[in-house]
Amino acid sequence: MDGRNYINGEWVPGSGPTFETHNPASTGEVLGAFPRSGPFEADSAVEAARAAYPAWSHLSRIRRAEYLWDFCNLARAQTEELATLLARESGKVMSEARADIVEGIHMAQFVFGRARMSYGDVVASEIPGKDAFALRKPKGVVVAITPWNFPFAIPVWLIAPSLLEGNTVAFKPAEETPLLGQKIVELFHQAGLPKGVLNLVQGYGEDAGWPLVTHPDVNVILFTGSYEVGSRIRQAAAKDYNKLAACEMGGKNAVIVLDDADLKTAVNASVMSAFRTTGQRCTAASRLIVHEKILSPFKEAFVNTARRLTIGDPLNNNTFMGPVISQPAMHKVLGYNDLARKEGVTVLLDGGRLSGKDYDRGYFLSPFIYQTENRPGMRCIREEVFGPHVAVIPFRTLEEAAFIFNDVEYGFSLAIITEDYRKARFLREECEFGVGYVNLPTIGAEVHLPFGGLKKSGSGLPSGATLIDVVTHRIAWTINHDREIKLAQGLSAEIT
Ligand code: NAD
Repeated sequence: MDGRNYINGEWVPGSGPTFETHNPASTGEVLGAFPRSGPFEADSAVEAARAAYPAWSHLSRIRRAEYLWDFCNLARAQTEELATLLARESGKVMSEARADIVEGIHMAQFVFGRARMSYGDVVASEIPGKDAFALRKPKGVVVAITPWNFPFAIPVWLIAPSLLEGNTVAFKPAEETPLLGQKIVELFHQAGLPKGVLNLVQGYGEDAGWPLVTHPDVNVILFTGSYEVGSRIRQAAAKDYNKLAACEMGGKNAVIVLDDADLKTAVNASVMSAFRTTGQRCTAASRLIVHEKILSPFKEAFVNTARRLTIGDPLNNNTFMGPVISQPAMHKVLGYNDLARKEGVTVLLDGGRLSGKDYDRGYFLSPFIYQTENRPGMRCIREEVFGPHVAVIPFRTLEEAAFIFNDVEYGFSLAIITEDYRKARFLREECEFGVGYVNLPTIGAEVHLPFGGLKKSGSGLPSGATLIDVVTHRIAWTINHDREIKLAQGLSAEIT
């Protein structure tokens, strides 16, 4: 692909160097070259978004939604082509690549559907002659900075609600997946979105992302990515009186398997949680907290299943696990495997880099599984690895399971495997998380639910259905129908 920025409705080549995107399953395959943008392109994108804001925000909500409907139909017609490109650029296997596209489409559908529904509340007033409303207004210019691991769904999750509510957007996709970023913007372009309403800035985080974050004319930053970057963005935004940063970040999630669990459900949910997207999901589980009574049969079945997973070409429909995204990502996972050994774990399945013909062309890793107690200070069971690296941690009481779950700095996703609703409820109340499941994996979000975590995982402003609260501000609007002024709280309106 001939990579471009998209500024004020024009596809513009960068003025400086470019960067390439590769297939992580076959690194010799170059998918495109993209502009390595900097402050000039970031400024131009924000200026275009600011200039487009008055007309876009004054357009009817229903008309704005119709652009999303057209985007949706275009994306639906090309789902298979988009999924294939996504699999080639990100290494996600075909069924996950399709699901990524479908999840983006679902968000656009959800947002479209909301257009004709209430976007505020009629509320009671103490004074019978007053009508009071809580309404919403757009915030202005939104910057969307997104990660590589959901290169279609996450940008659409952030862009579609922002546009519906009347904001304009400057979007920077991850440097690992610029091609999918450009495809999204092409679809909006084909849908006829007015110029300047959505702008695309390609490039690296520090060069192209940071100038967007610190631009004084930006009102909202929607960031999804690592805690390290998100925490800097939150601090930068906090210095500006008119800027809000909503950051969705990493995880150190867990499946808790209770002693009454159905073994098959426990193993399936754990395999999906640990190894879907090769462990590279914010909601992936890298800790399996397992009751000691079920530990032996669980370990045996889990390790046997993990050993048999089909690892290989993401474009092959039978593949369960593709490569990790990049060489640094591969070295990071291998480093954590070594760290776990150094920290004294018992290795149950000694995974590592796969080699031999097709594997040599990409960044393929096999599952690394170990058992350990939850010892204080151990890093491998506390830090986000983002790969096929998983700890089995035994527990004895429900209180201990909750303690282990909470004994990390993240708080994103939790799955509980049990037949006992009372125990599940106890853990729901005691564990710190934002997305929870019973008898399911830690993955599998749907667009009409809130999506976000606590602690290092999120800024308390969830994405998904609740993003509307981030991209709008609520105003109180009260109208007096009496001939005279009457005030709440018994406050006198007499002027003496
Ligand atoms: P990352 O933080 O390295 O990059 C995310 C985005 O931030 C990219 O577009 C990158 O270019 C940009 N960026 C990097 N430095 C920047 C800077 N200084 N200023 C502005 N932008 C900058 O994350 P990644 O490797 O792409 O994705 C993996 C991470 O994302 C993991 O931690 C994962 O858990 C997290 N994630 C979270 C969610 C969620 O919803 N909470 C979803 C998916 C991924």
